[in-house]
Amino acid sequence: MIAIICVVIILGVYIGQKSIGANTFTGKYTTGNLTWKFAGSYSKTTQEKLIAYPKKWSALSSNLNLTKEGDSYKYSRFRIRYNLTKPPLVGLLGQTFLFTKEGSELGINDRWWKVTCSVYKNSSASSVNKHATLIHEAGHAFSMAHCSHSEKQHIMHQGLKSYTAVSSYEKDELRKKWGK
Ligand SMILES: [Zn+2]
Ligand SMILES: [Zn+2]
Repeated sequence: MIAIICVVIILGVYIGQKSIGANTFTGKYTTGNLTWKFAGSYSKTTQEKLIAYPKKWSALSSNLNLTKEGDSYKYSRFRIRYNLTKPPLVGLLGQTFLFTKEGSELGINDRWWKVTCSVYKNSSASSVNKHATLIHEAGHAFSMAHCSHSEKQHIMHQGLKSYTAVSSYEKDELRKKWGK
């Protein structure tokens, strides 16, 4: 099973899951009650500012709670690695990994215990672009798949983006998966 479930790459290079028919993954978290944790040290202010993006998704369903910081990185459910240098591929903006509790890699059809969302530093990506990548990767954690609707500003479209508002379409898709 591949660990990389999603890549957002500039210039249209595309690896990972090539065809996702549905707008949400078959799999999901084992629970919607999630603790969050950052890898590395970030100020309280920065953490609050950044965690607000994933919370735009969790706020849409009463079955998703992302309110509490976890004690340890290892056993937190929603982990963020933000502004990482050295992306594994040139132009890679972000990546999401799904795991069992103990850290074995899972795929999008599984039931995952924890997630790591990585957002990479990239010479083409402004801080707004990186916020957009963070909310995109968080979408995958909550089972949102890629979509592509021309002329729409959807978070789950691939590529370099500068908008971070969840569309009504995506709100509906999330709620189909998680309930209201
Ligand atoms: Zn993606
Ligand atoms: Zn779309």
